[in-house]
Amino acid sequence: MEALGKSIQFLKGVGPKRSQLLNKLGIATVFDLLWYIPRSYYDRSRIQPINGLVEGDNCSVTGTVAASSLKRSRRGISIFQAILQDHSGFVNAVWFNQPFLSRSIKKGQNVWVRGRVKLACNQLQLQVQEYDLLDGDSPKHMVMPVYALTEGLSQHFLRQLTEAVLSEYLTIYPDILNSDLASRHGLINIQQAFWDIHFPASPEAYKQARRRLACEELLLFGLGLKKLKSTQKIYCGVVHREQDDLVGKVKGQLPFRLTPAQLRVCGEIFDDMESSRPMNRLLQGDVGAGKTAVAALAIAKAISSGYQAAFMAPTEILAMQHFNNMSRYFAGLNCNIALLTGSAGSARRQQVVAAVKSGQVQLLVGTHALIQAEVQFAALGLAIVDEQHRFGVRQRALLGDKGAKPDILVMTATPIPRTLALTVYGDLDLSVIEALPPGRTPVKTVCLPRERRREAYKIMRQYLSDGAQCYVVCPLIEESEKQDLLAAETLYEELCAGLAGSFRVGLLHGRMKGAEKESIMASFKQGWIQVLVSTTVIEVGVDVPNASLMIIEQAERFGLSQLHQLRGRVGRGSRQSACFLLADPKSPGAVMRMQLMARINDGFKLAQADLALRGAGDFWGVRQHGLNQLQVADLSRDLDIVEMSQQLADAMAAFEPLHQQYFDMKFKKTPHIAAN
Ligand code: ADP
Ligand code: MG
Repeated sequence: MEALGKSIQFLKGVGPKRSQLLNKLGIATVFDLLWYIPRSYYDRSRIQPINGLVEGDNCSVTGTVAASSLKRSRRGISIFQAILQDHSGFVNAVWFNQPFLSRSIKKGQNVWVRGRVKLACNQLQLQVQEYDLLDGDSPKHMVMPVYALTEGLSQHFLRQLTEAVLSEYLTIYPDILNSDLASRHGLINIQQAFWDIHFPASPEAYKQARRRLACEELLLFGLGLKKLKSTQKIYCGVVHREQDDLVGKVKGQLPFRLTPAQLRVCGEIFDDMESSRPMNRLLQGDVGAGKTAVAALAIAKAISSGYQAAFMAPTEILAMQHFNNMSRYFAGLNCNIALLTGSAGSARRQQVVAAVKSGQVQLLVGTHALIQAEVQFAALGLAIVDEQHRFGVRQRALLGDKGAKPDILVMTATPIPRTLALTVYGDLDLSVIEALPPGRTPVKTVCLPRERRREAYKIMRQYLSDGAQCYVVCPLIEESEKQDLLAAETLYEELCAGLAGSFRVGLLHGRMKGAEKESIMASFKQGWIQVLVSTTVIEVGVDVPNASLMIIEQAERFGLSQLHQLRGRVGRGSRQSACFLLADPKSPGAVMRMQLMARINDGFKLAQADLALRGAGDFWGVRQHGLNQLQVADLSRDLDIVEMSQQLADAMAAFEPLHQQYFDMKFKKTPHIAAN
């Protein structure tokens, strides 16, 4: 195993200069080189004769450069062209924005290119997506890997080096799956997989190799998580033992009966809270699933057991709403609840901080203000983070650090499939509220081009006449010259000037003072304000059941999960709710988002579609520790492999020193998945 960590510099034919170039590609060791997966393949069995090319084809051809030229288009794009000749004819191949090619693709050079055939000025043109210079390669492989390169390194060199390393080092590559397990899951052995990912003999061989390597990565990652979880178990956390029937009383004060799904997740959370192992639980549930009520009962349990609880939300408006709800649910039960947000005056703030420190306050609700250093608890037993995707992982940890291993519950309305959650949030246990409370009707979602926005507003006035309330959402607060976003203020004025008829309109945006926001939200909640014009400050959590219509201006500017969150503000009462997306989507992605929104109401399905659309990296952004170092597995597509890797991790014995060594090599850039 150690030999796999050998520096690439000391391999035959590399040396310091090339080693630097390889480093640029992220290849420092023999191990890295094995995992440097080809970007595509050049398959000689699929070469087409040039004279057979047809417009619209995706094709592969080889040829000799008969002539070449470098030009610049009127719009400043560089265009490199080469006339390729094979035994059957000529074609003009073009590369955009790669002027340096004129140095390597010269007359007489043999090349392979793959691309799309287009018609330009009545001539067939091959727009190149992949290419390769064909000198020097022995023709022993039918399929050649095409690697991502950096200037100064050639395909030929990288291929030779990879082939040499495969021959010399694969025998010492550890096979962590015993052959029995591997064959039960139809997995080829690891040595074969590395050969076939670099030099596949057939498409099927490639498929099997990819499957094994994707599984290998995920399995290794899963084993790391398993180890992490087992160390978490050692810590002695808070044991919650109820001293009275506060939980029952709070339950009795909720304005509804909990659904079976809510009761079940409460049970899961309570079990964790009663055990000495610190809870680290993720509560997933679609927008409107009723996570707040579950949080309330967990809080009641903590208080009843003599501990304090903290409840953190990403926006001031949501924190206020939680504070108001908790105040209602705990009314008359002798619990001291306080609110702390960034806009609290300093006198008030000091008062709250002191009361939390002395233990007088039993529940502290608030925003990021909760994790500031000055906030200290007497005995924090439970920390809840709402809409956790809006917080960094570190912020979550900071809240937990306010106590001695308190139980931690994080809640999210960006649900992902269970299998995936076990990997992505592998350090957390998972509870899911699968079904919405009864009586909800799906929100009817319609996408309209901007020129038809008056129709949407007409329907809004009908809703208002029927006694319903409405949201109008606009993306930014001030008109900026560069972007053509509608300003909230302009929109507000437009609505007041007649677009909202004679109904009462209110304006809410992020730059308002806390008290101002609170009073606007309160009068919307009471029904005095009938139309609330708002920026995305209402995106998460806000709950006004009588609001049953939402118009989103310039909806194409929002991401899918954001749109779903926004839309989740309506459809909370029994009235048929509707959502208008006013949009002129230009990009294919935006068109797709609008279509998906109109078609799908289920947050789980939308999240999956979003994941597929954006790819895993972008979907989770930076928060996902080692996951962004997956080189083969694609979390948006390989759900079946994710599941298989979990079964394998479960079937395997403890995390051995070999696994640790292997893990560190593979995920070395994030050695401490624990911290994340
Ligand atoms: P989310 O899971 O998005 O945070 P909330 O907790 O804000 O959802 O709940 C959404 C709405 O559903 C609120 O108006 C809440 O009062 C209501 N609600 C929650 N649980 C139930 C239930 N069991 N029956 C009826 N309504 C419920
Ligand atoms: Mg919520």
